[in-house]
Amino acid sequence: MRKNDNNARSFRGKNMKIYCCECKAEVQARLTDGKEVHPHRKDLYYLPFWKCGVCKNYVGCHHKTKNRTKPLGFISNSEIKNARIKIHAILDPIWKDGFVPRGKLYAELSEKLGYHYHTGEIKSIEEARKVYGVVKKIVAKVF
Ligand SMILES: [Zn+2]
Repeated sequence: MRKNDNNARSFRGKNMKIYCCECKAEVQARLTDGKEVHPHRKDLYYLPFWKCGVCKNYVGCHHKTKNRTKPLGFISNSEIKNARIKIHAILDPIWKDGFVPRGKLYAELSEKLGYHYHTGEIKSIEEARKVYGVVKKIVAKVF
């Protein structure tokens, strides 16, 4: 690891193709830092983000892992971001409070949806609604 890896500038300049929910296509995303996408959040200044050059939406990274610039999922817009927050809000307590192990919960979700499920990879509001419906059914069963 280079000495200046914690320096905001070290994140800038790289490009990668990522699906963008707003553009509804794979776009050329640019790696940047929190200073650019969250100018009012000093605590995020030195974290990496991938930003769509067309619509300016962005996605965060698995910054606590070895591959710290790996995107968390697809680039979303505020509508999809809010839908994901809602899904996490009802999904997370199930495994965090120990009702169902996280892996088992996601496996059940994937099975019911018919594809490998990741909240970070919800592509559209229609998909978010469908997931929300399935999650609610699981919640009803657990509580
Ligand atoms: Zn875009």
